[in-house]
Order: sequence, then structure tokens, then C-alpha cells
Amino acid sequence: MNAPKTETRRAGGIDYTLTRRRVRNINLRVRADGSVAASAAPRVPAAVVDAFVASRAGWVENARAKAAAHARWDAAADAALPDKKQALAQMTALCRAYYPQFASICPGGAFPRIAVRDMRTRWGSCSLKTGTLAFSRRLCVAPRAAQEYVVVHEFCHFAHPDHSPAFWAAVEAVLPDYRQRRKLLR
Ligand SMILES: [Zn+2]
Repeated sequence: MNAPKTETRRAGGIDYTLTRRRVRNINLRVRADGSVAASAAPRVPAAVVDAFVASRAGWVENARAKAAAHARWDAAADAALPDKKQALAQMTALCRAYYPQFASICPGGAFPRIAVRDMRTRWGSCSLKTGTLAFSRRLCVAPRAAQEYVVVHEFCHFAHPDHSPAFWAAVEAVLPDYRQRRKLLR
């Protein structure tokens, strides 16, 4: 398959990239870094895309302001997080507290490898292959009840790699109030 063709253009004072794809109309988006990307079908003349981008200048400005505010908020939130070493110590201690209840399902029965990562889209993950439980650094500033829920959730994946009823039953057996705890993360 050919890579989509992308060119840099400018319209209505907006620098943007135009990528040719099999899309129905013209798609326009502002990325988190404020850059603007349009995609259009190969048959749409570039001048038409330029005119469309120019007509959406107000929307682009708005979306850029939102992206910038979001980036500032993210930076402030990250600055409030414990450093990696502290975060790892915190999550390891919490996992040690729950480990005795899960020792029989941990790979080799051993205490798992614990990792803390700057994950933004999930709170934790479990790798059966490497025997690793990984947690988002952001979890460290979540309510303790929620941190415990994520720890138990990831431990349970050693026995159930999916989110089947059996998995949730295993979570509930350790934390009967897991639903309330889970709500704290939203
Ligand atoms: Zn899960």
C-alpha cells in the first residue's frame, strides 16, 4: 500500500498539512500540539480545501486555545505527581500488601515485577508474559481506595486475562465495593 500523500499548505493565515485519503468530505482537526491537519479525497482540489480551512479559522483558533489550556493543565498535573522513584515505591508497597491474596495466581508464585509509567490512557496493565504489573504515575495521586482497586484489578488479570464475569467475580471477592472504588477514577 502507498503511504498517504501529505503536503504543507497555508490558508486564511493557518499553516496546515493536507493528507490525501479516501475520505468522504474534508476532515479538519487540531492536534494536541496546536498543529492543524486536514484530509481530503484525492479528487477534491487543493483550492477547495484551502477555502474550507480558511472558513474554519475561528473554529481552529478556538480549538488551539483549548489544546493550549489542556497542555498547561497536563503540565501542572504532572508537576504535582511524585517522581518516578517515589511512585514506584508507593505502588510496590501497595502491591506487597495485596500480594499474599494473589500469590497462587502470580507467575511462578513470585511477587511480580512492578513498573510505573506515564500512561495517560489507562491506569494499569498486567503482562502475564513478563509477570509485570504496570501502573500509571497519575494513579499515585488518586484516592487510596481507587489505587487499591487498580492493584486488585491488575492482579486478577494474572488469573483472567479478559474482563469476563469470572474476572469481575474475582475482583469482587477481594473488594466487594469495587464498583464505588472504580467510580473514583472517572
Ligand atoms: Zn483490566
